[in-house]
Amino acid sequence: MKHIERIGPLWFIRGQNRGRYPYCHSIFLPEAGILIDPASDRETLTQMRDEGLVKAIWLSHWHEDHFKDLDLFDDLPFFIARKDAPPLSSLEEFLAGYDSEEDFAYWQQVLLTEFHFRPRYPAGYLIPGTTVVLPGTRVDVIAAPGHTPGHVALFFQEGEILFLADYDLTPFGPWYGDHNSSIEDTLASLRYLRNIPARVWLTSHETGIFTSSPGELWDKYEGVVYEREKRLLQALEKPKTMEEIVNLWIIYGRPREPRAFFAFGERAHMKKHLKSLIDRGLVTHKNGLFSRAD
Ligand SMILES: [Zn+2]
Repeated sequence: MKHIERIGPLWFIRGQNRGRYPYCHSIFLPEAGILIDPASDRETLTQMRDEGLVKAIWLSHWHEDHFKDLDLFDDLPFFIARKDAPPLSSLEEFLAGYDSEEDFAYWQQVLLTEFHFRPRYPAGYLIPGTTVVLPGTRVDVIAAPGHTPGHVALFFQEGEILFLADYDLTPFGPWYGDHNSSIEDTLASLRYLRNIPARVWLTSHETGIFTSSPGELWDKYEGVVYEREKRLLQALEKPKTMEEIVNLWIIYGRPREPRAFFAFGERAHMKKHLKSLIDRGLVTHKNGLFSRAD
């Protein structure tokens, strides 16, 4: 089968386009028949389904670029952390953070057509702090909130392989743009994960496999968060409206299409940073204008 690399007890299935959104890399545990994050390569996943290899699905978290091909396995049980289950139960829940009608309409369409969204209910939960004993390996389920509240990392004891999921160590940096994401939890999860001893590190996007310690990539990845904040704070030396802040494109670097997608991401991250800066007394918000407090 194409796009598959065998690592210890698991298969690493490369996502299309280096696993960049709307794809991710998938992981498969052949002895247990567990497929994790089915959104890598539809052809390969279809073949695996047709050969009867897959018995159950696990999701690292609720994002659409991790369940794009879940519709191939709708007859199988799926598992996710309890905190991340609600968005999958309906489009309204999924889109709860989208306050403009235009954004809602755009996303509704994209989720139904491109991501095969349908309401889904887990057969059971991945419980952080527990170890799941499977044929082939034991798997530690690790709470890694921030990106989403129920985001989990997985440690495969056989082979000492740590799956970081969307703490993906890419140059873009961490995503914490949803209404229930958190910058502080993201930073805490990064610090926790980097201290777990492992032999191999796997991520959901881009490079995907690290056979030696990611080392300074951890610092760079975390540093993106501080860089975003620094640039926002500099820009607020002159007071700005939310629209003006979005148009700085601090997250994405420049305006991109489709605008509804990228403007949402830009605004969502800026809101998180503004809240954090206001909470620390570094920024004020008066008459619709944000400005540095000093
Ligand atoms: Zn994600």
